[in-house]
Amino acid sequence: MQVTSMNFKARAGEKLADVKLQAALRKLQGNFVKGRADRVAELDNFEAIRTAAAEIRDRALANLDVYLEEFETNATARGAVVHWAETAEEANRIVCELAVRYGVRKAAKSKSMVSEECALNDALEAAGIEVIETDLGEYILQLAHEPPSHIVAPVVHKSKEDVSDLFEEKHKLTRKTRIPDLCREAREILRPHFLSADMGISGANFIVAETGSTLIVTNEGNGRMVTTLPRVHVAITGIEKVVPTLEDATTLLRLLPRHGTGQTITNYISVNTGVKDAADLDGPEHFHIILVDAGRTKLIGGDMQAMLRCIRCGACMNHCPVYQSVGGHAYGWVYPGPMGSILTPSYVGIENALDLPNASTLCNQCGVVCPVKIPLPDLMRKLRERQFERGLKPWPEKLGLALWGWTARHPALYAVLSRIGARMLAYMGGAEKRIHHLPLGGGWTAGRDMPAPQGKTFRELYSQKIRKG
Ligand code: SF4
Repeated sequence: MQVTSMNFKARAGEKLADVKLQAALRKLQGNFVKGRADRVAELDNFEAIRTAAAEIRDRALANLDVYLEEFETNATARGAVVHWAETAEEANRIVCELAVRYGVRKAAKSKSMVSEECALNDALEAAGIEVIETDLGEYILQLAHEPPSHIVAPVVHKSKEDVSDLFEEKHKLTRKTRIPDLCREAREILRPHFLSADMGISGANFIVAETGSTLIVTNEGNGRMVTTLPRVHVAITGIEKVVPTLEDATTLLRLLPRHGTGQTITNYISVNTGVKDAADLDGPEHFHIILVDAGRTKLIGGDMQAMLRCIRCGACMNHCPVYQSVGGHAYGWVYPGPMGSILTPSYVGIENALDLPNASTLCNQCGVVCPVKIPLPDLMRKLRERQFERGLKPWPEKLGLALWGWTARHPALYAVLSRIGARMLAYMGGAEKRIHHLPLGGGWTAGRDMPAPQGKTFRELYSQKIRKG
């Protein structure tokens, strides 16, 4: 997927003015925000599970080489082939070569954010292979030629009416307006593709070192069909998804659906281990697992390592006031919201996503709800520091900070300037005592006013209070 994160500010402005999008984003509050709160409240020992989940992810990351090799050994022993892809291009090349080797003409896909990172569909289509997305949301986006706007609910930005129009235009069938009818229509269109695809492509929510399995969590059952019906199954996943044991995976599964969709458990949890045996009724004859790095090892051992704990639940974006206002497309790459504001600059380069670490109020809602305790605001702050250290901030900001830093080192001057500033702000508030336009800070007052201060600095008020006793 092309990176357009440098356009965040312009895109955010457009999205704020998009009335339909604003209505669509309000849906997040019901199912996702309230759903998570309700499911978490059902757990007596929620904080203990959360701590255990963070520890599992940290243990896996601290011993990534060991668990990945254990995974490869156990997957290979069960007939799978493990491939290592250092870059997105290498991952695409491996999938295309496998398609040629097995004479694949059609691939059915279940949802995979890593394949979005790699732009795998484009690579396969360029190689002459038909690709069908089978997750309902991803299928809608494929028809609309749009990228996902949320990692769990990729089509959250669209209304039911948008989907009705799209299906009518693309399927050339009578327009349906009820959600069950729309789902049935998609199911009827997709079903023959599952049966005729030569290759199934899935992602993996976790890969399990002790069994060599890939584990996927879905609600639609398409993942199970993609991984069992075609004769070739290719799973494409990031190297950080490894967990040591199945028991560790079950601990994480106590949190993932609760935080993702507000469910105790999803409709399907599929553990794919090895190729079809003589005794098996279904399963692939060939199972290839592609472990993608694409920037992940750069984070190991650095101050962004905690971000690799992420289990892709989407809770941080559901609770983020910025995401709730602008939606996912404004972020300009695969991962939106607070997690994307850290992953995108980390994977594609901070110089290609300058606005994202600043697209946060640092209110810490994301940090509070993250099931694996990723300190998201701290990481964003560190990225802001890196931007400053590398001289990537805009010059007015650099100049402003330099002036402020110099003045702060001269306390007497600082006190005088603060007094002048406080009095000017009080004067600007007028009789109404509200400031409608802030010079040099017009962005703050472009959509709201602010109360004027009393005209005294904090130090003056403090010393007055002391004098009063
Ligand atoms: S950062 Fe945390 S809350 Fe956000 S998607 Fe990842 S695990 Fe979920």
